[in-house]
Amino acid sequence: MTERKPRRPTERQCSVCGQTFTATRYDASTCGPTCRTRAARATRTGLQRRLAAERAVQSLIDQTTESGDAADLGALRRLRRLIDEALTADKIRNDQRDGKLPTA
Ligand SMILES: [Zn+2]
Repeated sequence: MTERKPRRPTERQCSVCGQTFTATRYDASTCGPTCRTRAARATRTGLQRRLAAERAVQSLIDQTTESGDAADLGALRRLRRLIDEALTADKIRNDQRDGKLPTA
């Protein structure tokens, strides 16, 4: 996940099963289709967790807005913004993976 330099086939460690494999693409991080699918599923699961966190914090914001505690509301809005940023980063990464966006 962290390195993406090599353009020639290189030995790498699969990010899912840990086995050494020969990467033929510079962005390969898994040894084959099975591990690639598992890695993609894990990413989606992470996204779903963050979406759930966003819903939870929004519901807290709504409740706090009614009770009117400005300090709590400020903290919750900062939290909400952090979650939004994480979601945006995920969306960009997924779009790049699916070929909807060019990789940087
Ligand atoms: Zn693997």
